[in-house]
Amino acid sequence: MRLAIVGAGPAGSRLAEAAARDGAQVVVFDPSHPREKPCGGGLTAKALAEVPAAPASDPMPARFLSTCLLESGAGESVRVGLERPVAIVSRREFDAWLLRRAIDAGAVHREERVVEVDASGGLRTARGERMHFDVIVGADGANSLVRRTLLQPTPTERRFVAAGWYAAGDSEMVVRFLPGVAGYLWLFPRRDHVAIGVGAPLRRFGTRDLLARLEAEVRRDYPGLAPGASRYGHTIPSPSTDPASILELAGPRWALIGDAGALADPITGEGLYYALRSARLLAETLRETGSPVGFPARALADFGHELLAAARLFDRFYAPGYARRMVRYAGRSAAIRDVLGDLVLGDQGYVGLKRRLLRALPRFLWDSALAKVRAA
Ligand SMILES: Cc1cc2nc3c(=O)[nH]c(=O)nc-3n(C[C@H](O)[C@H](O)[C@H](O)COP(=O)(O)OP(=O)(O)OC[C@H]3O[C@@H](n4cnc5c(N)ncnc54)[C@H](O)[C@@H]3O)c2cc1C
Repeated sequence: MRLAIVGAGPAGSRLAEAAARDGAQVVVFDPSHPREKPCGGGLTAKALAEVPAAPASDPMPARFLSTCLLESGAGESVRVGLERPVAIVSRREFDAWLLRRAIDAGAVHREERVVEVDASGGLRTARGERMHFDVIVGADGANSLVRRTLLQPTPTERRFVAAGWYAAGDSEMVVRFLPGVAGYLWLFPRRDHVAIGVGAPLRRFGTRDLLARLEAEVRRDYPGLAPGASRYGHTIPSPSTDPASILELAGPRWALIGDAGALADPITGEGLYYALRSARLLAETLRETGSPVGFPARALADFGHELLAAARLFDRFYAPGYARRMVRYAGRSAAIRDVLGDLVLGDQGYVGLKRRLLRALPRFLWDSALAKVRAA
């Protein structure tokens, strides 16, 4: 099979690596490397499980962390210990490392922008070269050309806007919910700097307002990490509550993965896991059936229901007071801290969250009573 992949971000490079290993002739197009894609760079434990194997001489470039400070934004905070570490990566380093894995497996990288595609496998590069492939995959990110041409752009109401900056220095990993903003700010320490950002639904906030709010919070509470001259802003697309928003992601000779497929968590903006996982599922589909047609149903069965559940839960999750109660309860109870730790790791999904919280209730009540007795 001759496979063209537009975009060598995590989704494109992961697919290129897996499909080349399966014997496909893979060409991956991307003129942008090396570059720092706007991103926190946080890889949950479930995302780390999707990262390809690498030789000992070229280990994954990352910083590993075992605690996360959760702040309610209204004064309360709780430090959650993680059973397994999460990783924070620089996208400049991580994406280049993933692309090396693809090239090692036999994929060809062409440093060219694709400017035209069609549903029968044809494409044209910015240099005017026309080529034909058996299958074309759009792994070209949030503003995907392949998606715009073969489907339609992801609508505004399904986009999270995320903005921030990188600062010299160090910090612990912090997630702060922001009252009045259906979103949160983060401080993610990397190997030699800190990624600082904020995210919220695009339909409710503009980048400028969000950045102003982020700056005010950081200048007040983390003045050493205040911004310099440059900032970034970008969007994170996600599915709606309708399974059709996932089932539409392939045709007989094309498919969309990662951000191009709008496969990110609408509540947290986590997209790296879905980029890597959707790439793996598409590679499996191509290997087993020789066609991308079965990929969307496979993605829906694998992680799709989790994303649809997140889209349904969004308003409740960001309702006034919810995050504050969650952080306050976690401060009182190890049972709730365990649930939050598993959410940060990606081990606890939204499907089954309510049942897990109900199961934690007796221990929560016991822990709360004990805390009150101790305080008296
Ligand atoms: C501010 C911010 C913070 C985030 N933080 C996190 C986080 O901490 N953890 C997390 O899990 N997710 C996070 N995300 C989401 C995550 O960054 C994305 O989900 C992820 O990058 C998607 O990977 P991808 O490979 O699908 O697309 P991308 O990483 O966007 O890669 C697409 C690639 O396609 C290339 N390309 C585009 N058009 C063309 C073309 N026409 N021809 C050739 N190449 C093309 C681009 O150059 C790019 O290299 C964040 C997003 C933002 C905006």
